[in-house]
Amino acid sequence: MPPKYSREITRPIALGDSLKDQFRTSPCEHACPAGNPIQKMQALIEQGDFAEALRYLHAKNPFPGITGRVCPHFCQDRCNRGRYDACVNSRALERAAADFAAETPAFRRRPATGKRVAVAGGGPAGLTAAYFLALLGHDVTVYEAHPVLGGVPRYGVPDFRLPRDVVDREVGRVLETGVRARVNTVIGRDVSFADLRSAHDAVIIATGTPRENSLPVPGAEAAVKAVEFLRAVALGERPPMGDRVVIMGGGGVGFDCAFTARRLGASEVHVICLEQAGAMRAPEEDLIQARAEGVRIHNGCTLSSVRARDGRVEGVDYYEVRECRFDERGSLELVPVPGGEHTLACDTVIFAVGLKTDLDFLGPDAPELTPRCWIAVDERQASSVPGLFAAGDVASGPASVAAAIGSGRRAAFAAHAFLTGEDAPVYAVDDEGRIEPRPDLAGRDEPYVVPFEEIYGVARYEKSEPPVPTRSDALSFEEINRGYDADQARTEAARCFHCGHCKGCGVCVDDCPGYVLELRHTDQGDRPVVAFGDECWHCANCRTSCPTGAIAFHFPLRMQV
Ligand SMILES: Cc1cc2nc3c(=O)[nH]c(=O)nc-3n(C[C@H](O)[C@H](O)[C@H](O)COP(=O)(O)OP(=O)(O)OC[C@H]3O[C@@H](n4cnc5c(N)ncnc54)[C@H](O)[C@@H]3O)c2cc1C
Ligand code: SF4
Ligand code: SF4
Ligand code: SF4
Repeated sequence: MPPKYSREITRPIALGDSLKDQFRTSPCEHACPAGNPIQKMQALIEQGDFAEALRYLHAKNPFPGITGRVCPHFCQDRCNRGRYDACVNSRALERAAADFAAETPAFRRRPATGKRVAVAGGGPAGLTAAYFLALLGHDVTVYEAHPVLGGVPRYGVPDFRLPRDVVDREVGRVLETGVRARVNTVIGRDVSFADLRSAHDAVIIATGTPRENSLPVPGAEAAVKAVEFLRAVALGERPPMGDRVVIMGGGGVGFDCAFTARRLGASEVHVICLEQAGAMRAPEEDLIQARAEGVRIHNGCTLSSVRARDGRVEGVDYYEVRECRFDERGSLELVPVPGGEHTLACDTVIFAVGLKTDLDFLGPDAPELTPRCWIAVDERQASSVPGLFAAGDVASGPASVAAAIGSGRRAAFAAHAFLTGEDAPVYAVDDEGRIEPRPDLAGRDEPYVVPFEEIYGVARYEKSEPPVPTRSDALSFEEINRGYDADQARTEAARCFHCGHCKGCGVCVDDCPGYVLELRHTDQGDRPVVAFGDECWHCANCRTSCPTGAIAFHFPLRMQV
């Protein structure tokens, strides 16, 4: 068989991982939990078209300004270019699309369906579900306990990593689709879950993991909870914390507390964590920042008590741990290092030791829960109760903003199918800006993920390093990472290999010795086509010269025997 080309998308796709014309794809797109069309974004940014890049992103993700800043960049960790010189900085490019796009045309709502949907929780998962449901024509109301929408990114992630006006701008776009919001409304207190169910045709639960764990140690009641502390600061409070602060917990939340404490004036900040150096849960960039800001990390240790007098913290006792193991009952057992006990004087102790769901509001027709008290869902986010869907951390346990967005989008389309019976494998944005079913674009199988070894034409790329985004090292609440400027973004976007998606370079056409292929000029760019398939030599020159690995080539049976 002559070559088959795996092509780039030519219109924004809202749902559908398997596309007929895109049967090969990149590890970055495969790894992105939000489903971002990363390669289309890179191609458009390379051309300087930030607005169109943002329009394509918005078909999958209403919050690219947020994920473009705080996502742990699953895409970059899998980037094929990382095996060549350095990975493409896709996260910074996503942010550039969100920041530099001039006003992009908003998508338009489909005609009203007359169906009412309640979304419980106004974080990334709930708002993403609300955005897609509104665009699909439903009447959507979000119920949010806090006075502001946005969830943890709005009141948990500190301003120096994610400025709140970025969150507010993107939440504003969601509301522009016609989503209604009732803030300061706690489900289970201000409105019962049973009333919510009876007043709506479908309900999406996206209440996250609002409860914080504590530690069973003496004096624990004098410690402050991490998210409670971060929320108070995000809402404008400046809690007195003294000079010396100890944080128990070495994940990203613990370091957010540490950097916030430094900015509130604490001169000595300690992070105590069970993990050994080199095996910490916090992202590498947090560890670099910790060194730069003088945060001291005590690895392989845990607290034995908080010393407090009359409710005022005076210090902590902690010890070094030689081994962590689970006993016969499944409880965690910590084996201390003999003589490894220490005391630290401090004024504030913060516990950043994990989050859990709070589903007391569910009542009698509660859906099935997992053993860890998350809502059990299928791959489309449907719970065990018909018409009830769950998305985000409430269904997955603590995860990431990108994962919350991906699951919120899946939940919206599943609820749409439940409400209307319309259930296509692919939804795309039409020329009018509406999200419409496009079963004709669907592929049969999951796309093949092209590994680095199949970018046969890799030698065509010059080795290069990504440009370095500017940073501020001030100990203030100003955003630290300032991102790329527009020129840097275009330079970086050009480094993408476009793994598995044809970029129309024409190399295969030039290298075909049988003159079987042609490069056609279309309004979507240049496209190679098989013009004289019967004359193909089956030499596979096209395949081995393609610098994107976009060609599938099956040798005819007579050549295989
Ligand atoms: C401090 C901190 C820093 C983080 N940093 C990052 C990061 O850098 N990158 C990253 O990808 N992820 C990060 N995460 C994780 C990320 O924020 C979450 O995975 C994500 O926010 C989950 O989205 P969600 O919509 O499921 O839940 P949430 O964001 O928690 O939103 C749930 C919403 O539901 C509301 N709610 C809860 N109960 C009720 C009720 N009964 N009635 C009405 N409303 C209710 C809550 O007020 C909240 O607004 C961080 C988490 C924390 C705590
Ligand atoms: S959301 Fe995360 S994984 Fe997806 S493109 Fe952005 S940075 Fe990469
Ligand atoms: S080179 Fe481009 S397409 Fe390939 S994995 Fe990296 S960012 Fe994705
Ligand atoms: S060589 Fe160029 S034109 Fe041919 S398939 Fe690969 S990317 Fe497309």
